[in-house]
Amino acid sequence: MADLILKPGREKSLRRQHPWVFSGAVAELRGTAAPGDTVRVCDARGQPLAQAAYSPSSQIRARAWTFDAGARVDAGFLAARIEAAVRRRGRIDPGGAARLVHGESDGLPGLIADRYADLLVVQYLSAGAERWREEIADALLRATGLARLYERSDADVRALEGLAPRSGPLRGAAPDAPLTIVVYGLRLVVEVAHGNNTGFYVDPRDNRRLAREAAAGGGADTALNVFCYTGAFSLALAAGGARAVLSIDSSGAALDLARANAAASGLDPAVFEWREADAFAALRELRDQSRRFDLVVLDPPKFAPTPASVERAARAYKDINLLGMKLLRPGGRLFTFSCSGGVSAELFQKIVAGAAQDAGCDAVIARRLWAAPDHPVRLAFPEGEYLKGLLLERL
Ligand code: SAH
Repeated sequence: MADLILKPGREKSLRRQHPWVFSGAVAELRGTAAPGDTVRVCDARGQPLAQAAYSPSSQIRARAWTFDAGARVDAGFLAARIEAAVRRRGRIDPGGAARLVHGESDGLPGLIADRYADLLVVQYLSAGAERWREEIADALLRATGLARLYERSDADVRALEGLAPRSGPLRGAAPDAPLTIVVYGLRLVVEVAHGNNTGFYVDPRDNRRLAREAAAGGGADTALNVFCYTGAFSLALAAGGARAVLSIDSSGAALDLARANAAASGLDPAVFEWREADAFAALRELRDQSRRFDLVVLDPPKFAPTPASVERAARAYKDINLLGMKLLRPGGRLFTFSCSGGVSAELFQKIVAGAAQDAGCDAVIARRLWAAPDHPVRLAFPEGEYLKGLLLERL
């Protein structure tokens, strides 16, 4: 095994069990290692700190598998991590959807596995995960008792690891019919081959339930769902009792699925208006029409995919939140989210506060919102907390 030697004083984060070794912290590689090979990470005096997957083309030069110098990183090691991750999720709901492996937070850097009904959808996003692709696939099937696994390793972050995009069936056949999941009684089609992410967004599950509860008992007769994708929030609002739900997305294909999802869930189509539009323009148009809603959801894509884009992202978050706030009637509620890792919960709250002030509105935080618990956050890896949100009540 090659040794990755750190510069003096650069071992502190590894001693706190943070799994990333940045290129700037590395003094030299002693020996040779191919992408994804396990290397021993040592401090400047040669003391071993971790065993990590080497990624020569990435700024994150190595990702720790373990801080135990005596462990053997092999198929059995990875299978044990995968079993523990699956076990931690608890009972498997057969028709539903869940994140079974959440990367670094499950001790499996760069590996994402979502389950939709009886299909696993996996993303290999690091050189280390890629190195063990076959072993990981087998271990996932063993741990879940499922037979089909589809690969969606086509996220942009693969390029940073020097990996080409790849997607297609990896174990078993590709789904020959649209896959339907049932979440809290709502039926949603998941497009595993072409949909965003792994086909769907499991993480706002509890937030959608909260939106549904907020709409109950006349709590939201009129609702606006911006960046609606396949309509999961819209359906939850209608199921809760909203009488008119306007949903906006720039993707016509996503809106087609959303319409089909509403019908499959037995909801009255007259409740919904699906509008294909750019959200920034559509929000301005609604403002110019002096529209008001009882409840607004803003769940946009990642505006800040890299640390360098945080400032531009902050302006975009402020823009939509300012408009979203203006579209709320007094007493109305705003569910607002950011899934940008580079925008902390504290920064997001500041941005939203600035937006409210500029909109001339005051509001209280009724609740702080996060990803559902199958997206755990490890204490030593706060970067895992990418999704944050606020439930605001306009005064
Ligand atoms: N809220 C959704 C997930 C949103 S994903 C859910 O609960 O499942 C982000 C969505 O924003 C995608 O569907 C994408 O098509 C859409 N989108 C991205 N940029 C947009 C823009 N400028 N205007 C409108 N929609 C946009």
